[in-house]
Amino acid sequence: MTFKAESNKFIWINGEFVDSKDAKLHVLTHSLHYSGSVFEGEKAYNGKIFKLEEHVQRLMNSAKIMRLDINYSFDEIMKAHNELLQKNNVTDSYIRPLIWRGSESMNITNKLLSVNLLIASVPSPTRTSPPFNIHVSQWRKPNPNAFPPQVKSSGHYAMIITAQDEAKSLGFDDALLLDHRDYVAECTTSNIFFVKGDTLITPIADSFLNGITRQTIIELARKLGIPTKEKHITLDKIDGYDECFTTGTAAEVKLIGSIYTDKNIIFEKNKVGSLLQKEYADLVRL
Ligand code: PMP
Repeated sequence: MTFKAESNKFIWINGEFVDSKDAKLHVLTHSLHYSGSVFEGEKAYNGKIFKLEEHVQRLMNSAKIMRLDINYSFDEIMKAHNELLQKNNVTDSYIRPLIWRGSESMNITNKLLSVNLLIASVPSPTRTSPPFNIHVSQWRKPNPNAFPPQVKSSGHYAMIITAQDEAKSLGFDDALLLDHRDYVAECTTSNIFFVKGDTLITPIADSFLNGITRQTIIELARKLGIPTKEKHITLDKIDGYDECFTTGTAAEVKLIGSIYTDKNIIFEKNKVGSLLQKEYADLVRL
């Protein structure tokens, strides 16, 4: 089997740099069958990974909650990231650390199972695209007592992939998911913000991932003097909002043109969204 995803030459795997064409896994890899791997999505700009400490912290926290006992310290994981960028001689790229269980056993749990860490970097050209048109998914975010929302686990992404694939097959760019209480939660791989007048409004991150970009945008908005509110939002409220955008490491700040609920809600304005989009783009490249 050849490595198909477009990766930079070297992948850091369990402490060694491996040529990406030799980076292969056994077909009985536990995490392939039973899910349960944890990962991060990071971005490097001008040779520096934005908010690397926060990402490594979240990765380690995800591993801890999912009972993946890794052999590497915070400092070692930080160092491996930086060495990977140098080894691949890249300045701008998307970085993917992944922690997974090996192929030593097909039992659901077995002490023989290894816990592995890889860090890959893939080219990440900056893309600009028109505002997204999204719809409300039939799928909900799980109750936090069924799946911890602050964990970036492959298990969670099974339904994210389903929701995004369904949205695209219906002609939308992405899906908005509600939570188990029917509150607006987030899009498939990004957090959501609205603007009403001059106020920024975003859902409380109690049932979905409190994204690092989301936290950065709230901080930026506060610095810029933009009044910011975190609150529970029901779908019937969004008709009255003026702007909408999403945030995430990969797509940064993405303007939303419309949300299809049982009707199409159009956001014609983008003043605050565009301002924060530019401020964020400047900040990551500082
Ligand atoms: N929610 C989900 C489900 C995601 O996959 C992501 C992307 N990591 C986000 C939100 C945004 O998180 P961040 O800003 O930390 O990339």
